[in-house]
Amino acid sequence: LKYQSVALIVGVTGIVGNSLAEILPFADTPGGPWKVYGVARRPRPIWQADHLIEYIQCDVSNEQETIEKLSTLTDVTHIFYVTWTSKPTEAENCLANAAMLRNVLKAVIPNAANLQHICLQTGRKHYLGSFESWGKIIPHESPFHEDLPRLNAINFYYSLEDLLFDEVRKREGLTWSIHRPGMIFGSSPSSLMNLVGTLCVYAAICKHQGLPLIFPGDRAAWDGYWDASDADLIAEHQIWAAVDPNAKNEAFNCSNGDVFKWKHLWHVLAEKFEIENYGFEEKSLSLTEKMKDMGPVWDEIVKEKKLVGTRLEEVAAWWIADMIHGASYLDTMNKSKEHGFVGFRNSTTSFGHWIDKLKAHKIVP
Ligand code: NDP
Repeated sequence: LKYQSVALIVGVTGIVGNSLAEILPFADTPGGPWKVYGVARRPRPIWQADHLIEYIQCDVSNEQETIEKLSTLTDVTHIFYVTWTSKPTEAENCLANAAMLRNVLKAVIPNAANLQHICLQTGRKHYLGSFESWGKIIPHESPFHEDLPRLNAINFYYSLEDLLFDEVRKREGLTWSIHRPGMIFGSSPSSLMNLVGTLCVYAAICKHQGLPLIFPGDRAAWDGYWDASDADLIAEHQIWAAVDPNAKNEAFNCSNGDVFKWKHLWHVLAEKFEIENYGFEEKSLSLTEKMKDMGPVWDEIVKEKKLVGTRLEEVAAWWIADMIHGASYLDTMNKSKEHGFVGFRNSTTSFGHWIDKLKAHKIVP
């Protein structure tokens, strides 16, 4: 089999990495047939065993290891950078995340003679500010569009962009694209921020304990408009940018293209877990508070329902569910459409789809 393109997915088991790993090898994927390398630190998980990729265990924060394992991949034509690390302060985030990207680019760019394009995934915090800056700086007025200037505060997304620009400049013809999703709907249990997975674990615990499925957010979030970014859609967006000349050297927002209300998705969640008692409560406890002693309950559910063995702190990031407060800051997909990307998702269908996928992979009951 002769490949037209060779992908290197950095963060292959992550929420978008997993979608790229599934979609790239399909026979009809643009730019294909694709050969696919995928990198993550942990061993290849069983829920990803079906994807037709070459799995490479490598810690890209380790410069030496990255050089050893990635400099030999001389046939790579496209890099999909979909990873990050979380540190206590944004200053540390800037350093640590830049070091990871730098290690990858230093290992690949000089050795992969046919390297053509690099997709970098960042996110909507480009316009909102880093988590650390929330409440301290004034974010842009939404809906966010790509021409807005940077905020006046450090942000690891800005560090990654600047590093990318510096590196691609050194190589004639090498192109880039930046992808800025909002809250992602996807299924990876290896993700640092998997909202759908977290809500499913919450629902599974409520079902098991006979507790009502209470929405953790406030009234404004329950009643207001929100949007999301489907993980498969983000993968399609990156593949589009990787192969379409109209998308080169540009940053793009990436969201589903519709809005939803949490009160409607909450109904979907309750139905999928067969919970009749669900809804909104004024002054509900945060999930961090409510779920803090549920580790042993989760172990029991995993055993009883014969799920893939996980610990509660791996599959549930309560802090991200606890951020569902207030009205959402929406973005616009106009630029993507103007450049030729017309992909979209129905967010309600997308939410249900990822719940089904988590169940099918036996991550949740
Ligand atoms: P995830 O947290 O879902 O996945 C990270 C992936 O990278 C995993 O495969 C992980 O596997 C791997 N990884 C982590 N550290 C290393 C390392 N040192 N070496 C090699 N592999 C590593 O990533 P996301 O898609 O969520 O994040 C990518 C970008 O998207 C980030 O900038 C994030 O802020 C942004 N974003 C995410 C959103 C979300 O809802 N998740 C929303 C909007 C933006 P392992 O742990 O086994 O190494």
